[in-house]
Amino acid sequence: MDMHRAESPTADPDFVLHSVFGLPGFRGQQRDVVAHVMAGGDAIVLMPTGGGKSLCYQLPSICRPGVGVVVSPLIALMRNQVAAMRQLGINAAAINSAMTPAERAQVRSDLRDGTLEMLYVAPERLMMPDFLEMLDGVHIALFAIDEAHCVSQWGHDFRPEYLQLATLGRLFPGVPRIALTATADMQSREEIRRRLNLDDARLFLASFDRPNIRYAVVPKAAPLKQLLTFLKAHEGESGIVYCLSRNTVDETAASLQAAGINALPYHARLDPAVRARNQDAFLSEEGLVLVATIAFGMGIDKPDVRFVVHLDLPGSLEAFYQETGRAGRDGMPAETLLLYGTQDIVFRRNMIDQSGAPEDIKRVERSKLDALLGVCETASCRRQAILAHFGECMAQACGNCDTCLNPAETWDATTACRKAMSAMLRTGQRFGTGHLIDVLLGMQTTKILNFNHDKLPTFGVGTELDRKGWSSLFRQMIVRGLVEVDHESYGALRLTALAEPVLKGLENVQLRRERAASSSAAVMKTKTARTELTGDSAKLFEALRAERSRLAKDQNVPAYVIFHDATLAAIATQRPCSFSELGEIPGMGTTKIERYGATVLAVVRAA
Ligand code: ADP
Ligand code: ZN
Repeated sequence: MDMHRAESPTADPDFVLHSVFGLPGFRGQQRDVVAHVMAGGDAIVLMPTGGGKSLCYQLPSICRPGVGVVVSPLIALMRNQVAAMRQLGINAAAINSAMTPAERAQVRSDLRDGTLEMLYVAPERLMMPDFLEMLDGVHIALFAIDEAHCVSQWGHDFRPEYLQLATLGRLFPGVPRIALTATADMQSREEIRRRLNLDDARLFLASFDRPNIRYAVVPKAAPLKQLLTFLKAHEGESGIVYCLSRNTVDETAASLQAAGINALPYHARLDPAVRARNQDAFLSEEGLVLVATIAFGMGIDKPDVRFVVHLDLPGSLEAFYQETGRAGRDGMPAETLLLYGTQDIVFRRNMIDQSGAPEDIKRVERSKLDALLGVCETASCRRQAILAHFGECMAQACGNCDTCLNPAETWDATTACRKAMSAMLRTGQRFGTGHLIDVLLGMQTTKILNFNHDKLPTFGVGTELDRKGWSSLFRQMIVRGLVEVDHESYGALRLTALAEPVLKGLENVQLRRERAASSSAAVMKTKTARTELTGDSAKLFEALRAERSRLAKDQNVPAYVIFHDATLAAIATQRPCSFSELGEIPGMGTTKIERYGATVLAVVRAA
């Protein structure tokens, strides 16, 4: 029997936070959200990934009379959420098609008895007659709509079945609804309110900063080599490598495997069984690298993802932020790396131009892509640039991105830009970067000779930069809008109106000096849960990890469902020697102490 809830129909959230979740206190706006929903109010909660959204509906579900119904888009991921709830001693279940009749009957009877505390369900199932009938006469504590940005037709995660959730308020009057998302853009925020009929919902908007995530952006040179160097610093850690195409996913995963790295592919074309198996392996095993397209990630709540790499440029700053946001949910240090090159920019711009979308949508998409390119090219703090895009002003540089740790140099590129522009003009603005660089460097290629470009005054005037230097310069000119790419004529570069003042000598251009590709990776040795511990604590941490592995295997759940790394790290440094000292460790609630307390204390004593 759950003592903490049996005493009264409405339990105290502070007490449950401590006793059930083992947490010392609320974080950020959690207390306000919980109080508002406890009092029956509707809420829209915008918090970054890892901000602690789940608690905002878990606590009121448990503390308010009745069952909390959680709408979540991916059935496959509900299982781990339910497993995590059960580890805390909470009676939670998920409805899905794979359930046996016996399991279904159990849920029905728990619903009728009022002993079920949380019920997870996919949106399409929630609105089905037989499910609504199942809820008939059942007391409902609240509806939580997770990943609420799925209602937004502007976003990349649009799910038509989310639109049906608009009727919840009418079908269940008086039951509070709480919509949650980590998507930061304004359009999604407004659409959530409108499309879910949450007119009177109070908005809770948290800072979107993720201070434990380190950002680094590096020009793409030899992607696989750059990736391998990065992974060397992350041996034994879990992480995601995003690629644009299914082919790159397959090839990259194979190359990593060949290099002895535990890596698996994930994309939409994989056999569904294999895909599910790989996702499962990533969620439950430790130290696995998942190479994936963006088909992977939504709703993934693995807390110990230590890195996210983008081998190709994402389509917008929003997408970049959401994807990198999957790292470090547990609040421990995590690292991201984005590789980008001119090809990526050309490809992304092209994709928008050719999308066939209405002009106003294209305009929005272009500005979201440009925001990301701005972050890539900035010579100052990346985090400041990112947060500024989301409307947050950060007074100081963050100290935890590549430009802060290893300040970028800028140089006066005015003369070089004018040489490049002149090469474009003199060749009739009909050629792409490769040929223009040949002209500037004075290369005697067949193409040069065929077009008599060796006779141009610009031929060979650019030997102050090498090929890489010029290609960086062209890329930065494209990003700044001085030059545009004509997709109709095979990527020929053309000057824009912005180029004129530069050509006329009225404006100077300061550009970021490219670093050697390897140097930025070299400075980026992150401290992780493990590397921050030393000597005896490190040894104890490993012993606790081994024990956690055993417990997880026995119960067939992911290791993090038993304990987070952060909990193990706290045990390893504080070395509790009694149940009451154990209770002070974050993540150690009553049920976990009952179940594992003795085992943990034994490991500490033996170390
Ligand atoms: P989100 O759903 O917003 O991405 P989660 O709800 O999964 O985030 O929480 C992220 C992590 O933060 C989890 O590991 C969770 O245990 C932890 N967490 C949440 N609230 C608190 C809190 N008040 N104190 C300490 N840790 C917390
Ligand atoms: Zn910074």
